[in-house]
Amino acid sequence: MPSFSHSKLTAYQQCPQKYKFRYVDEIPPPVRSIELHLGDTVHRALEKLYADALQGKLDSSDEILAFYQEKWDEGYSSQMRIVRSGTTARTYRELGRQMLRAYHQRFYPFNQSTTLELEEKFSFPLSDGHEIRGIIDRLARTEDGSLEIHDYKTSRRFPSPSQVGSDMQLALYELALRQRWPDAQRITLIWHYLTFDQAISIAKTLRQLEMVKQKTLDLIARIEATTSFPTQVTPLCDWCEYKEMCPAMKKY
Ligand code: SF4
Repeated sequence: MPSFSHSKLTAYQQCPQKYKFRYVDEIPPPVRSIELHLGDTVHRALEKLYADALQGKLDSSDEILAFYQEKWDEGYSSQMRIVRSGTTARTYRELGRQMLRAYHQRFYPFNQSTTLELEEKFSFPLSDGHEIRGIIDRLARTEDGSLEIHDYKTSRRFPSPSQVGSDMQLALYELALRQRWPDAQRITLIWHYLTFDQAISIAKTLRQLEMVKQKTLDLIARIEATTSFPTQVTPLCDWCEYKEMCPAMKKY
């Protein structure tokens, strides 16, 4: 059954040629961006924080920062792409430290909800012929029995209310969860914008979820019907892993 993730769908929306490089030609990304390394490393540190808390061990801020540093060093390569002028790898490493320090201070002792799953992979049939897959950063239950889908963002951009309202990622995750846990009542979607030390929570109605499902199926139908993959040049090209092999970039 054809399988789609949120990042696969957004790759097509961002640029069909990029989608083709990655998902049709299956060319592994030739470069890795420093932003990706930052995001991965911060996610690993927060996973450890909650995994330890589940075992009854409350990590101090210093312990989490030491773990973060260790994982940063393990995964870092001087070949990583740094796009923003005036920044270095150190800028990003420090940004991650600030995010974790602020998160730790805000949520210690991490008992706002009970963690049920961490970095759990899922896949579910969106229709008879298509599957959606993804990873939920943290699934939790609050005292009143509601479920929470937590997602960590390390982006430097804070979303507008309309971007939050139209985001499909966590709505798809909720659809997956409702299929797995059909008795679930209230499910809250929570984005942690770590750079800004802010969380955004929303709850979708069943009608809104149905609309997201339909929109996603429409997008998949467009992707499957396409026979050409035009380039779409935008400021995001600077972060595209395939920039060096892109035909549109030869003109610049
Ligand atoms: S560099 Fe830009 S136009 Fe080229 S594949 Fe990447 S996103 Fe598309």
